[in-house]
Amino acid sequence: MKNVYLFNESYGLNKMILGGKGANLVEMQRIGLPIPNGLIATTTACKNYFKNENILTDEMLKEISEGIKNLEIQTGKTFAGENPLLVSVRSGAPVSMPGMMDTILNLGLNDATVENLIKKIGNEKFAYEIYIRFIEMFSEIVKEVEKEKFHSLKNEMKDRPYKEVIECYKNLYKIETGEDFPNDPEKQVVMAIESIFRSWNNERAKIYRQIHGISEEMGTGVVVQEMVFGNFNELSGTGVAFTRNPSTGENTIFGEYLLEAQGEDIVAGIRTPEPLMSMKDQLPNIYDEFIRIANVLEKHYGDMQDIEFTIEDGKLFILQTRNGKRSPHASVKIAIDMVNEGLISKEDAILMVDTELLPQIFNGTFEESDIAGKKLLGKGLPGSAGVAVGKVVLSSEKIKEGESVILVRVETSPEDIKGMSLAKGIVTVKGGATSHGAVVARGMGKCCITGCEEIKIDKSEEFFTINDEVVKEGDIISINGYNGEIYKDAIKLKSGEINGDLKEFLEWCKEFKTLEVRMNADTPKDVTVGRNFGAEGVGLCRTEHMFFEDEKIWNVREMIIASTKEERDLALTKLLELQKIDFKSMLLKMGGLPMNIRLLDPPFHEFLPKTEKDVEKLAILLNRCPKEISDRIKELKEENPMLGHRGCRLAITFPEIYEMQARAIIESAIESKQEGIECEIEIMIPFIGGISEFKYIKERILETIQTVFDRYDDSIEYKLGTMMELPRACLIANEIAEESAFFSFGTNDLTQTTYGISRDDSIKFIDHYKAKNIMKRDPFQSIDTRGVGKLIVLAKELGKSVKPNIKIGVCGEHGGDPKSIEYFNELGFNYISCSPFRVPTAIVASAQSAILKKRGI
Ligand code: ADP
Ligand code: MG
Ligand code: MG
Repeated sequence: MKNVYLFNESYGLNKMILGGKGANLVEMQRIGLPIPNGLIATTTACKNYFKNENILTDEMLKEISEGIKNLEIQTGKTFAGENPLLVSVRSGAPVSMPGMMDTILNLGLNDATVENLIKKIGNEKFAYEIYIRFIEMFSEIVKEVEKEKFHSLKNEMKDRPYKEVIECYKNLYKIETGEDFPNDPEKQVVMAIESIFRSWNNERAKIYRQIHGISEEMGTGVVVQEMVFGNFNELSGTGVAFTRNPSTGENTIFGEYLLEAQGEDIVAGIRTPEPLMSMKDQLPNIYDEFIRIANVLEKHYGDMQDIEFTIEDGKLFILQTRNGKRSPHASVKIAIDMVNEGLISKEDAILMVDTELLPQIFNGTFEESDIAGKKLLGKGLPGSAGVAVGKVVLSSEKIKEGESVILVRVETSPEDIKGMSLAKGIVTVKGGATSHGAVVARGMGKCCITGCEEIKIDKSEEFFTINDEVVKEGDIISINGYNGEIYKDAIKLKSGEINGDLKEFLEWCKEFKTLEVRMNADTPKDVTVGRNFGAEGVGLCRTEHMFFEDEKIWNVREMIIASTKEERDLALTKLLELQKIDFKSMLLKMGGLPMNIRLLDPPFHEFLPKTEKDVEKLAILLNRCPKEISDRIKELKEENPMLGHRGCRLAITFPEIYEMQARAIIESAIESKQEGIECEIEIMIPFIGGISEFKYIKERILETIQTVFDRYDDSIEYKLGTMMELPRACLIANEIAEESAFFSFGTNDLTQTTYGISRDDSIKFIDHYKAKNIMKRDPFQSIDTRGVGKLIVLAKELGKSVKPNIKIGVCGEHGGDPKSIEYFNELGFNYISCSPFRVPTAIVASAQSAILKKRGI
């Protein structure tokens, strides 16, 4: 395998070898576009360089030398000759990677060639200025000489002859590096190639690779390309353009250019570029030619292109093309338009949309132009996507329906759920991306910022300080859940909704996906939201969330505090009626889609009063003394509630709770049916670890249901199944499958219990694991396929071995994570379930993974 290829020797080689920039240049040349000639030192060359202890082997030096000779033949110019060849040296890894070394322009110049150039073109100013610029760029990029040093030199030497400036520049190079400035063009090129190779290992590049999971092994390619000059004369210029508008997606070319300028002048912002449209008047032929090429490129790559070009003396050259970055809205519009224009297939269009960007569409963003004038108060962690504006409120009870408020808390607890559901957004002082606040907020599709330690809430609970600014309750703030920023005052919002293009796009995705996409929904409102977004059922209805609503919590507390079975039964009877109201109103909104209801899961302690005032209130309600109540609360406190008296364990101690819930569910379904509403019911038992445990509970539930059937003299179909969220359940999944109609993997708890890491505590150390590259990804965000996945696969296989058609789904947070969805799709799951606001993203991700699976990728 060679290390160095001319462009025209590398047709068909891929970007893993040539690097992204090089591969596209080669491809453009192959299809006949005007590309300055060049050669590429491949990623293999880069790897060989590292293998050889960062020294270019003689073999490689020979190949470079030969490549240059051939380039001289192709261009009819020679290094250091009368018609001097000048080149740029450009870095390009297989994936675009900021942090790598910059491009160096105008290599090949020295004291002799600059004179030759002047003779050839008769423009002294031009030739000397590019020479000066070259010395500066080369020193800065290859030898890391500070730019400032050249700039102050330049100021000192204003009005001095060019030759003197050049001498001083080279002198500065010598002082800074201890070496003479390289005169030999070939040496210049070799030094530039080496430094680009080395830049693969600079800190910035390494960190970027770590964050984005890019392999360290890949290496970078280097392009050495004949220079064309946009600053040559008034018929020259340089520019960049997107083939479509990257923020709206509109199918009109969008770009800017500068006459008489070299590439980096646009980026540096020294002169203000003009919109591409004005080229139509200034250089009409070139404009037409550019539009033609832009169309060719878009068609060829089947995607919107981001193009860099230069015009030299009235001739157009393309210097780079790549798939353009775009806004979330534009990405959907472009995908749809390109199908309608016959450029790509629906499948390609679906794959083209980045699922990471989708939440921004559904959760809204700030009006960008309005951010600038606002004061940034501080910054926390991005907990849940979206933006929100509202009055600050420091406790959940103070929030009234219909008000726009931002709830600011030290941390949130299940008691805040009502308040969170009423608030526009949530900020917590403690906690990370997987804390209670963030998880619940994501579930509600609400913007949330966590871990904003800059906030100090005053004891009075009437104001907080943040970086010396005092914010009182009632003051308006704006919060950004994408980046964690908190601003004073209101910023205008752009809202997200599903219509037009987006709606059509989701319809296409549904044609291709095979996974059923369900929602986690606890209220009728959730059901409405999720169904609007396209959910095909409820995969998880957490009954306890209903318990926190309104006055129900007091009945729940009554039930928990009860000291005898009679007392408990009385409280349960009241709860039964309330639960039935909830279930029936949800079933009404479900329209016959499957609804999976999970029986009570959290430990009792979560429901109990936290303040003295509430303890007293409960005491009065129950006609007891407060001490009795607070003693019972103490009794219920657990060392480790996550692994304590929760889930089905509650039903082993107090079977009447699940019996009440089963009764409420089945009665609701029968009554709904009798009112002409179709229902498909699934009842799910959480935290099952053993088969006898499940059998004990199942027996009681079946009995209860039979009594309901008898009493109504009617029946309905339902399924009774288990959550799979403990390793032991996975290990004995064949036994469980004998009794269970479905498995629903609760991947949050399964991850916690497999790792032995509590999710809420993990924020204290997971970041360190990631920073030290011990964990690539947070297993609570993206499923750990190697460990937790092994248990899931085992459980699936054991389950299918006794019940081939057992229904398998996921209802943890991972159900909304595109990477995890791809994994569950591969495993052939029946459904995934995620928060209503994640449903559209999950639909797109399911379609993408179905298409990739079909294509065998
Ligand atoms: P980046 O990866 O930062 O985009 P490039 O390699 O594209 O770096 O180089 C930056 C700019 O330098 C280009 O946009 C172009 O304007 C200019 N440039 C690079 N190579 C040449 C060349 N052979 N002739 C003229 N200009 C060039
Ligand atoms: Mg570029
Ligand atoms: Mg669980």
